[in-house]
Amino acid sequence: MDALELLYQGKAKSAYVTEDPELLILKFRDDTSAFDGEIIEQLSEKGAINNQFNAFIMQKLADAGIPTHFVERLNATDSLVKRLEMIPVECVVRNRAAGSLVKRLGVDEGLAFDPPLFELFLKNDALHDPMITEHHVEAFGWASRDEMARMHQLTLETNRVLKQLFDDSGLQLVDFKLEFGRANGEIVLGDEFSPDGCRLWDKVTGEKKDKDRFRQKLGGVLDAYREVAERLGIVFDS
Ligand code: ADP
Ligand code: UDP
Repeated sequence: MDALELLYQGKAKSAYVTEDPELLILKFRDDTSAFDGEIIEQLSEKGAINNQFNAFIMQKLADAGIPTHFVERLNATDSLVKRLEMIPVECVVRNRAAGSLVKRLGVDEGLAFDPPLFELFLKNDALHDPMITEHHVEAFGWASRDEMARMHQLTLETNRVLKQLFDDSGLQLVDFKLEFGRANGEIVLGDEFSPDGCRLWDKVTGEKKDKDRFRQKLGGVLDAYREVAERLGIVFDS
């Protein structure tokens, strides 16, 4: 399957149409952004790492019965996915407090949530991804009540599967963001799951192994991503 024409260019990935109108190619680029695109840097090989990381995770989720857009990995940086009508809502689950939650509510980083906390944000960089509720999603017509309930259910199910997977590799899944879309009337997991969109802390040392290394200028961003992948047993092409 060849990439025919650029459909859109996001901050970290580019989407290309293919000869099949139902399929897209997602190219994972090396661009790394933070603070709603205010800071953008190139991290060599990040695209290849995240594409292969995402392929591994999407396969695990599919194995667990979660409907995903992932079809197959094409090469180091590209994957074939089902084209979705994306819903502009970010579904976030938090097992521990970090990031925007710590700032917003003044709690200590690391505060544990059981059951996990579910939050919604509007995907809109110009508005800095404001926090919204399920009522906004329905009132503004971004998704129906049933679709929202399904996104909530699939996000919590994803958390159950991945929390265990990372725990088995000595990592705490602190939080993550998912994006969903529609295909043939069904809610399907889209976009990506990689260390760019989640927080992972070493279970023993508490060391951060995710994009916070970039946001907080801690250094060793890709070494941390590679280490996580290695712990999960991912073998890279590159
Ligand atoms: P951003 O939009 O945050 O800058 P990316 O650089 O990751 O993010 O761009 C990828 C874009 O592709 C996002 O807008 C995402 O919603 C969209 N997308 C992801 N998966 C699919 C899919 N299966 N079908 C259509 N669009 C998708
Ligand atoms: N996240 C993301 N994209 C966004 C916003 C958040 O992937 O546009 C992820 C982020 O990496 C973290 C989780 O969602 O794993 C929760 O992010 P938070 O609300 O704490 O925002 P942050 O302070 O990280 O921007």
